[in-house]
Amino acid sequence: ESLSVAELAKKLHREPSELIKKLFMLGVMATINQELDKDAIELICADYGVEVEEEIRIDITDLETHFEQEVSEEELRERPPVVTIMGHVDHGKTSLLDSIRNTKVTDGEAGGITQHIGAYQVEVDGKKITFLDTPGHAAFTTMRARGAKVTDLAIIVVAADDGVMPQTVEAINHAKAAEVPIIVAINKMDKLSANPDRVMQELTEHGLVPEDWGGDTIFVPISALKGEGIDQLLEMILLVSEVGELKASPARSAIGTVIEAQLDKGRGSVATLLVQDGTLRVGDPIVVGHAYGRVRAMVNDLGRRVKDAGPSTPVEITGLNDVPQAGDRFVVFEDEKTARSVGESRAMTAIQAQRSEKQRVTLDNLFEQMSQGEMKELNLIVKADVQGTVEAMAASLMKIDVEGVNVKIIHTGAGAITESDITLAAASNAIVIGFNVRPDVNAKRAAEEEGVDIRLHRIIYKVIEEIEQAMKGMLDPEF
Ligand code: GDP
Repeated sequence: ESLSVAELAKKLHREPSELIKKLFMLGVMATINQELDKDAIELICADYGVEVEEEIRIDITDLETHFEQEVSEEELRERPPVVTIMGHVDHGKTSLLDSIRNTKVTDGEAGGITQHIGAYQVEVDGKKITFLDTPGHAAFTTMRARGAKVTDLAIIVVAADDGVMPQTVEAINHAKAAEVPIIVAINKMDKLSANPDRVMQELTEHGLVPEDWGGDTIFVPISALKGEGIDQLLEMILLVSEVGELKASPARSAIGTVIEAQLDKGRGSVATLLVQDGTLRVGDPIVVGHAYGRVRAMVNDLGRRVKDAGPSTPVEITGLNDVPQAGDRFVVFEDEKTARSVGESRAMTAIQAQRSEKQRVTLDNLFEQMSQGEMKELNLIVKADVQGTVEAMAASLMKIDVEGVNVKIIHTGAGAITESDITLAAASNAIVIGFNVRPDVNAKRAAEEEGVDIRLHRIIYKVIEEIEQAMKGMLDPEF
């Protein structure tokens, strides 16, 4: 086996020039495309303190291509939609999830005891729907920030007696940023103080206009508490997902995403996986994030043992050597040996890979990214001390006119910059602007971890000027 200098440099996450220098010091003259023999490879690796394992031929990039396996049209079958429920606290997200589960769980037979594995499926008119069991946009966007696109459809729950609240708006913006279609469930219709018209009115201001009023958003009045309107809501979910033509190929080997995972005293690493394409089977060699193993046992959302799981099915599995993280992706391999070497090499390179993936936009690298044609849209999140200022700033920012790039405000709000803002920025490659507000402690830490750029200002025109100059490549470097 041989590798070129460039290939080896890539595997070691070093610059080829650095390797060439090293080889020179070791008495080997090499060019970038030169093939290195085993001895030379071993010499270099030893120098970097890396052990050579001949089996490691597949690295992270290969894993990603494995993800994009070619699939022919004929193999494709309809798959169930995967739904996330979001909305303001206390508006009834948990009650709705419970209500759907209790009335409609996929089980003809009695005695199916539902088990919380992080997701569940229901059956409506012979068609399945998968619900993610962690309500809220925080989990949703955290997964997205990790590169996982899991949700096909978002239900935004709004309490009819309370109306649109700050987290309702957040949820809408998180769903929009992910380009996920939205259905609105107006909840607590059983209450005397329910005012669905007000909810609809308020939501039009956020671009969700009911069909009756000329828009294209579906609104369903429900009472999660009394179980009313749930059937209509489920039917609407099926309707919207039919438009999306969700397809997958049950014939291929499985790929998907970790919904949740933990270490269990008796069973070891336990992970709930959402199969997104293909079919997962007991015994499959698998790489999950940087854990690996063989699927030892699979349990479905009813706590029953199953042998296989098709597209959009959540299953809890055991058999991994380590605990993966929510949002990690998984891939099934042909044989355990490959799975093992990929798993090990992924664990080894995970930190470097994470670092290099985090090429987030900052005002300092904005112009560079723009001129390389990598960016057509500058995503901004605008936070300010009062709502009036937020609106004024957003309006001025949208007026910035620099050829080749649009300013897109993906979220605004009054109040401090929060961790949720940072997660959204990380998932959407956005810059956060704070006017007369600061990030709270958690937001600060998250921004450092994720490499999100926060710009704080006290004078409106300075904000506009800074962004405009950055877009024109005229920003003075900040020290
Ligand atoms: P979450 O924070 O969005 O998950 O909200 P919960 O599901 O925990 O509900 C918050 C409160 O609202 C609880 O006390 C529920 O019993 C109540 N609630 C939820 N749905 C309804 C409903 O349809 N009608 C009424 N009257 N109360 C509801």
